[in-house]
Amino acid sequence: MLYSEIADVFDRLESTSSRLEMTSILSDFFKRMEPGPLKSTVYLCQGKLHPDHYAAELGMADKLVLRSIAFVSGVTESKIDELWKKEGDPGTIAEALIKTRKQAALFSEPLTLEKVLKNLTLIENAEGRDSQDKKMKYLSNLLMDSGPAEARYICRIVTGRMRIGAGSMTILDALAGAFGTKEDRPDIERAFNITCDLGLVAETLAVGGVDAVRKMKVTVGNPIKVMLAERLPSMPLILDRMGGRCAMEFKYDGIRVQAHIDNNNVKLYSRRLEDLTSNFPDIAAELRKRCKAEKAIIEGECVAVDREGNMLPFQNVTHRRKKHGMDKAVEDHPVKMFMFDMLLVNDEDLTLCPLEQRRSKLIETFDLSEKVQLTTMEIISTPGDGEKFFSGALGKKCEGIMAKSLSSEYKAGSRGFLWIKYKKDYEEALTDSFDLVVVGAFYGRGKRAGKYGALLMAVFDEETGHYSTVCKLGTGFDDAFLADLPEMLDRYISEGRPHTVDAEMMPDVWFLPTVVLEVVAAEISLSPIHTAAKNIVKEDAGLGLRFPRFTGRVRDDKGPEECMTANEVLSMYEMQAQGKE
Ligand code: AMP
Repeated sequence: MLYSEIADVFDRLESTSSRLEMTSILSDFFKRMEPGPLKSTVYLCQGKLHPDHYAAELGMADKLVLRSIAFVSGVTESKIDELWKKEGDPGTIAEALIKTRKQAALFSEPLTLEKVLKNLTLIENAEGRDSQDKKMKYLSNLLMDSGPAEARYICRIVTGRMRIGAGSMTILDALAGAFGTKEDRPDIERAFNITCDLGLVAETLAVGGVDAVRKMKVTVGNPIKVMLAERLPSMPLILDRMGGRCAMEFKYDGIRVQAHIDNNNVKLYSRRLEDLTSNFPDIAAELRKRCKAEKAIIEGECVAVDREGNMLPFQNVTHRRKKHGMDKAVEDHPVKMFMFDMLLVNDEDLTLCPLEQRRSKLIETFDLSEKVQLTTMEIISTPGDGEKFFSGALGKKCEGIMAKSLSSEYKAGSRGFLWIKYKKDYEEALTDSFDLVVVGAFYGRGKRAGKYGALLMAVFDEETGHYSTVCKLGTGFDDAFLADLPEMLDRYISEGRPHTVDAEMMPDVWFLPTVVLEVVAAEISLSPIHTAAKNIVKEDAGLGLRFPRFTGRVRDDKGPEECMTANEVLSMYEMQAQGKE
């Protein structure tokens, strides 16, 4: 298959911001593809060669890519450097220069998908002292045979800038359109949620149709999208919603970990599907020792503790998120794991079983220890008992409680009222926390001149797959954080407003939605300039946060699609309005 066909589809996707149109472009394309190329194309749509949880990364530094572009186009490196300072994106530069080089490319041959995959794999696997040279060679080799659009997307893939706006939900819509009907969409989505592998779902559909996808099961080694909780502001509301009775658990302030145990092999995944095994080797070993089954998938929260075993706040567990010096970190920063769910035991998929049954299996399967425990849980049926349980949780330095429906299945990848969180913040008026994604920055004035002084923050709109703004954030940053901002954000600079961002405010710099920060605010109000839930409460108005303040917590455990959604902001606005009546 020619890579130009795929680049052409990427180009068409990038030039529309309508999710319906994207779905139809992709669906028509997918329908015509063989299973193998389809699988790879689905990964490429998201700038990858493998599913999200695959550890290897293409990640070529911009400078290296620029050198390849210089080599292929014959333009000097200094000229290219100048262009890069202006444009920011090596993909755009490659495209422009290859356009002008067209005549000269006499010896090139049409670029096939197979060759692109082969060279990208070589880039990914290049090791050793001359790995940079090798990567440059494989990339130049591809650029040599590329047309302008092909070059643009190859450079974006290798530099991690591939954001054509085709999020997982759009791809799932397109797959349903190509291989099934609208009615099959939930089953296709479930298959994705329990495997976290869009390519595998696409291939299974192309080979065996929707029936084959319905038979896909949870397997050890394929992380499962985590189940998430909604929030409510009071105990009576929570119990009402739960039908008068539910399980309540302490809500621990740590890092969520999904452990996959397979005989002697244990892998730990974060909720963003990163491999955390090397960050918590002690927990991995203890889980293996304490698990009586050969295979299991469990979830729990890893929490930092002091020498006496008392729980410490979240910041302390982040010492374990570093890349080097882990032996010392294990020694200096002890952690405990509080298990709260079990999704598989041996070959039994438990995700469709009720919570009560999953909890019993968890208890049966593990010999507990100081290091590996169960979450504290009680069955609660009155608001008074709920409040008592909540105070107990705060007394143990937990964030609050999680209420869970006893009869509910494990709804992978879904946020709903089957789990409801209730935190300490909620008691204090609306000093609630919001996980928001950075989409732009404004240069500062005075002391902050020349640096980013404020950020444009957005929520995710599940319906459109776009990001809509909720506030300009300029408070809560200390000097060190401000100084670090360029390093954290500049690799996501976008030439103009990314077409997945709906905004009316114009920041000085735009970013591809990537970095998630935790923010507190005093109130949600109608806003003429912010675009979250626009036109829903009132014509021509969106929702915005008043007095937003950064809490100091970068949510690097959350991806942009996991930040707060426009719907959540809307329901919080409604909750707040009810409170005022
Ligand atoms: P939030 O990040 O505020 O949306 O809260 C959800 C997170 O709370 C989960 O992803 C877990 O990391 C964490 N958590 C702490 N304790 C529990 C528990 N008992 N059950 C489920 N999640 C928990």
